[in-house]
Amino acid sequence: MKRKLRIFFILVLLSLAVFIWQRVFATSRDSLLEVNFLNVGQGDSILIEMPYQNQVLIDGGPGSDVVEKIAKEMPFFDRKIEMVILTHPDRDHISGLFSILDTYKVDKVLLPNIRYFDSEKRKVLYETFKRKVREQGGKIIFGKRGQRISFSENSRFLILWPIDNLKIKKNNDYSIVSLFSFGNMDFLFTGDISKRIEPQLFPGNLELKKIEVVKIAHHGSRYSTSEFFIKRVSPETAIISVGENNYGHPAREVLDNLRKYGIKTFRTDENGKIKIISDGNFYEVIPER
Ligand SMILES: [Zn+2]
Repeated sequence: MKRKLRIFFILVLLSLAVFIWQRVFATSRDSLLEVNFLNVGQGDSILIEMPYQNQVLIDGGPGSDVVEKIAKEMPFFDRKIEMVILTHPDRDHISGLFSILDTYKVDKVLLPNIRYFDSEKRKVLYETFKRKVREQGGKIIFGKRGQRISFSENSRFLILWPIDNLKIKKNNDYSIVSLFSFGNMDFLFTGDISKRIEPQLFPGNLELKKIEVVKIAHHGSRYSTSEFFIKRVSPETAIISVGENNYGHPAREVLDNLRKYGIKTFRTDENGKIKIISDGNFYEVIPER
């Protein structure tokens, strides 16, 4: 009997220890930022996990497999994504978001206000997506330069593009460009904007802090990421989200320019998912391969 009692107490102590360590682990994770550049093939999908289960998803890639990839990153009990950013209604950015809306509760969706379209298909995707967000009770916010969206004292988005009343036809150039800050860390997300927009991104009154990580525009297309842009932004790390394609993405000249300026470059087609973890001061890039 005494022996059984002893075993019982040992078991209780053991499970208590496991429980405490789980809490310690969860709490330490709770103060870190994780940014996942998901490997969705030719397309973009970036999951930002801030402390206390605040998630922002930028684009959903070309297919429904984004749901599976996100499930691996999010806590299983968390069924809510606080904000989705649709940079622009191109298939390789918007398609996966329909499956996201079917799977998760999405509080708000930030997207560009587009009135001119360069293809009927994009217009239909855009309108259908907005309708679906509204049907599911999500709030639609039209992103425009100068907007700030805060998630806590030290984590916030500043929208740099598009400007209000943009009257161009090329839908890539409506892409939401956002600067996400977490403590002293700054990430620049550029959607698929082209070289034409790059000089307009940073108005004179915008004091640009050091940018640690930039998501290279348009899967490394040679029509984006001018040398001017690289010099102006001068990031430490560049991420190219790209898969098999017939467009020549990423372009040789973009890769060469990044190398020329000593920017550490990762690409999802070679590195798989690229995870960045940060405490707000330091960061670590963890490629899947
Ligand atoms: Zn794209």
